[in-house]
Amino acid sequence: MPLPSDLPVVDHHCHLSPSGDGVRAVQRFRQAGGTHLFLATQNYGAKVPRTVEEYADQFSMTEALARRAEREAGVIVYLVVAPYPVDLVPAVGDLGAAGALSLHCAALDLAGRWVRERRAVALGEVGFPHFPVDAEVDRVAREVFDHALAVARDSDCPVVVHSRDLDSAGYLELARRADRTGLRRERVVKHYARNRLSDAERSSVTPSYLARRELVRAVTSDPGPWFLETDYLDDSSRPGAVLDLSTVPRRAKSIAATDLDRLRVPFVESIDRVYGFRPEPIPRGDQ
Ligand SMILES: [Zn+2]
Repeated sequence: MPLPSDLPVVDHHCHLSPSGDGVRAVQRFRQAGGTHLFLATQNYGAKVPRTVEEYADQFSMTEALARRAEREAGVIVYLVVAPYPVDLVPAVGDLGAAGALSLHCAALDLAGRWVRERRAVALGEVGFPHFPVDAEVDRVAREVFDHALAVARDSDCPVVVHSRDLDSAGYLELARRADRTGLRRERVVKHYARNRLSDAERSSVTPSYLARRELVRAVTSDPGPWFLETDYLDDSSRPGAVLDLSTVPRRAKSIAATDLDRLRVPFVESIDRVYGFRPEPIPRGDQ
């Protein structure tokens, strides 16, 4: 089923690497019918940043990758930037708890500045290591997360959360922290959501669902907001570790065969509600 030309087709969470497939992966996305990407920053070097300047360099690399993908693949790319929560583990080891806390808060302040200057649209990934950590790292991660929520509130943007898979108690904790800070629950987006839970079970936190076939089928009729993502990693040493960038447009085509109208939920209405803007439609390359 061809997709209507005024329908954006959006992958809500991916990464690109200067040493990976990069623009070629984005061209596959475009060829398959994709139009917009939310590109999250990541560490591009072997070492985790130790200073806020190193985070600034990292964000700038993400921005350069985004502009290059736009030029060479004809898509629109939105930036999502923040210090990666897993970076806290080595940071606490090297800088101590106070040093790691102040580094991550400063990097979040920088990310908030990027949002207010419209260089980025959200803070992400923020949250918690997805594996057990010691009590000190855990405590610092909570403080850093609360700071991220405050920066998002003040920058009028969402946070994109990295964490283990959450049950309803886990979602409730995120929602309560957002309530305490004054950030709307919908503006807390759980990325890499692998299970369908009702809005009540998620305490109104927004899921960004991994675009696996069965999961997409299960959530298609759900009320928004929700998103679809591949969490594409662009790491050639781990082919098949994640979904290819062409996945969301392929899923969109199969939904379009029966439920075309539903595609406006993840690709237009949810972005409007959570981010506060509508993606500009651009002509699609596959038709
Ligand atoms: Zn990610």
